[in-house]
Amino acid sequence: MKNLLHDRKIWAKPGKKHHVSDFDTEYTADFIKKNDALDKLDKNLEEMIQMQDKLYADSRYSLLLVFQAMDAAGKDGTIKHVMSGVNPQGTQVFSFKTPTATELDHDYLWRIYKRLPERGNIGIFNRSHYEEVLVVKVHPEFLLRQQLPDAKNLNSINDNFWMQRYHQINNFEKHLSENGTVILKFFLNVSKEEQKKRFLKRIDDPARNWKFSANDVKERSFWNAYMQAYSEMLTHTSTDYAPWFVIPADNKWFMRYAVSNIIINRLKELNLEYPTLPPAEMAGLEQARQMLMEEK
Ligand code: ATP
Ligand code: MG
Repeated sequence: MKNLLHDRKIWAKPGKKHHVSDFDTEYTADFIKKNDALDKLDKNLEEMIQMQDKLYADSRYSLLLVFQAMDAAGKDGTIKHVMSGVNPQGTQVFSFKTPTATELDHDYLWRIYKRLPERGNIGIFNRSHYEEVLVVKVHPEFLLRQQLPDAKNLNSINDNFWMQRYHQINNFEKHLSENGTVILKFFLNVSKEEQKKRFLKRIDDPARNWKFSANDVKERSFWNAYMQAYSEMLTHTSTDYAPWFVIPADNKWFMRYAVSNIIINRLKELNLEYPTLPPAEMAGLEQARQMLMEEK
C-alpha cells in the first residue's frame, strides 16, 4: 500500500506556499478504477478498528481529525465511511455551526477546546476553528459580532489581522500536539463542476432534497474567494505537528481510501502497543487463575 502521508499530490508540505489549484481534484494515486481500491479500503477499515483498540488501551495519545470542505464535497459521507466499524465508545464526532451568542462571548477557540478528544479517543471535527479563517475571511462582517479590540470596523481587518489568526491557531495546535493530541487535517478538495453536479443531484432526487440548502448556492458564488482563503490557510497552517492533506474529492471512493490510508500510516508511527502489566499485577493474574481453576 502506497503511503500517502508524504505524497506531494496530497500533502501540503509545511513551509511552502500553496494554492488549491496546484492540487488535482481527480488524482487517484496508483488506482485506475474504483474496484481496484475497494478491497484495500476494506482492509484499511479493519486495520483502523485494531489501531483504535490499541490507542484506547494505551491511553496516552488522542487523535484529532479535522475536516473542512466546500458544500457537497463529501464530509459527512467520508466521516461515516472511514469510521464505520470503529468502537463508538472511543470516538466523538462534533459539527461546528455558526457560533451562538454565548460562544461569541468567548474567544473563538473556547468552543473548540471543549470538544477535544480525551486520551485514547478519536475526535472528529466536521468543520472546526478553521471556519474562522475561511467563512469569516470571505465574509469579514462576521468578525464584527466577535467584539474584538483589534477589529472594531471592517477597515481595521487587514493582512496582519489574518496572519495573527494563523499564528494563534498554530500555537494552539502545537500546544495540543506537545500534550499528546495527534492532529491530522483534511481539506476535501472538490472541483467547481463536480459541486454543481452534486447540487443538481440533491435537487433532483427527493431522498437527497434535505441535504440541499439555497444558501449553499449563494456561497458557491464566492468560490474564488474561498479558494484564496483555503490556499492561504494551507500555506500558513500546514505544520509538521498538524499537517494539512488536500484530498482529491471528485472520486468519492478515492477520497475515502486516501483519508483511511493517511490515518493508518500516522497511527503506525506512534508504535502503539497494548500495555503490559507490572510484575506484581502479573502475579495477581496467576493467583486469580488458580482461584478460578480450584472452584468447585
Ligand atoms: P454541512 O454544510 O457542514 O454539511 P449543515 O448543512 O448541517 O452542515 P450548515 O448550517 O449548513 O449545517 O453548516 C454550518 C454553517 O455554519 C456553515 O455555513 C459554516 O460556514 C458556518 N460556520 C461554522 N463555523 C463558523 C464560524 N466560526 N463562524 C461563522 N460561521 C460558521
Ligand atoms: Mg450545509
